[in-house]
Amino acid sequence: MIQTFDVIVAGVGGMGAQTCLRLAERGHRVLGLERFDIPHTFGSSHAVNRIIRLAYFEHPSYVPLLRRAYDLWRDLESRAGEQLLFITGSMDIGPTGSAVVEGSLASCREHDLPHELLDPTEVMRRFPGYNLPAGYEAVFQGDGGFVASERAIVAAVNLAMANGAVIRAREPLIDYAPLPGGGVRVRTPKGTYEANRLVLSSGSWIGEHVPALARTAVPERQVLGWFQPKKPAHFRVGAFPVSNLKCDVGHFYQFPVWHVPGFKIGRYHHLQETGTADGISREPTPTDEAILREGLRRFFPDANGDCLGMRACLFTNTPDEHFIIDALPGFAEVIVASPCSGHGYKFASVMGEILADLATGKRPPFDLSLFGIERFTASA
Ligand SMILES: Cc1cc2nc3c(=O)[nH]c(=O)nc-3n(C[C@H](O)[C@H](O)[C@H](O)COP(=O)(O)OP(=O)(O)OC[C@H]3O[C@@H](n4cnc5c(N)ncnc54)[C@H](O)[C@@H]3O)c2cc1C
Repeated sequence: MIQTFDVIVAGVGGMGAQTCLRLAERGHRVLGLERFDIPHTFGSSHAVNRIIRLAYFEHPSYVPLLRRAYDLWRDLESRAGEQLLFITGSMDIGPTGSAVVEGSLASCREHDLPHELLDPTEVMRRFPGYNLPAGYEAVFQGDGGFVASERAIVAAVNLAMANGAVIRAREPLIDYAPLPGGGVRVRTPKGTYEANRLVLSSGSWIGEHVPALARTAVPERQVLGWFQPKKPAHFRVGAFPVSNLKCDVGHFYQFPVWHVPGFKIGRYHHLQETGTADGISREPTPTDEAILREGLRRFFPDANGDCLGMRACLFTNTPDEHFIIDALPGFAEVIVASPCSGHGYKFASVMGEILADLATGKRPPFDLSLFGIERFTASA
């Protein structure tokens, strides 16, 4: 017998878990299908936490979404009875006039965000874990911090199920097709389902489900690591913010010590290794460690101790590094909810709400024009 739902969500990771929750709490019949376990370590949302920041160097138009994202993370944590959002302050750091600093300042000015522009001496006075050379500057914004990314998936899935959602792990979507009278039929190895709408939140696997995105949504291997601080007091929550640091050898991001041992650091676009989501190696190597140690050695020498852990994780990059959140051209019942080009997790809470709107015929109260799919599919 074919089971029917209002909405099927394929991919219960960062975006999909929040979408299942927002749909279920509105009373919709929702089926969440996840290929692996919930949560798991093969996608984009593992390795404990993700930075959230209002000073958005990528583009000022993300800031209204971020304000709502903060509200919804707080809503999730109050309902889950668990702290998921940790405010540490954020810094965007780079050589004077660099795009990271100027972009961050542009967001602060356009949206009246309280912020400070700090020179290296002031950064190191406030946060002695940094070692910044002359010629750098930092935008400090007090609302930045991090979200407990895996715990937030667990919290959303538990609440979604408590609100009636059916969530099935180890059951991948195989394919989907339009139903003659409208709606979508979805096949998995275990059965066939029908729904009014399908949300494709399959992250790095999106190109397998939307062939027109196979070349534009490109999975990329990232590796991050945790390292033993030599001066632990400088790297604890309260003494160290979250930050982005752009320099001549790349763009590093870092977190205070939290939940697992060690100071966490990664480098955006790491070794620029692209491939298929299944083909990319998840095994960290000594070369990966050397990349991260270069950032530690130069900017965080007091955290350049023994390696305590490393993880590989996937970005899914679009050519302009903005998201794709849109209905599929020619098949409006299917909503694409990925990819997020390495900066999407912080938005997962608000994306859940937006995707729940799109999947139920409501107009989301945000300008989503930056995320239209036709900017890529029109010429595909
Ligand atoms: C190392 C690293 C650091 C990052 N740092 C930050 C940060 O600090 N701040 C930030 O905001 N963002 C950050 N990002 C980006 C952010 O983590 C991602 O944008 C976000 O996690 C993407 O969520 P997602 O739901 O699209 O993907 P995922 O969480 O991977 O979810 C996709 C899910 O779809 C499932 N799936 C795939 N195929 C199928 C199928 N056929 N059927 C069913 N399920 C399927 C997958 O198993 C997976 O669970 C980082 C990413 C990485 C890798």
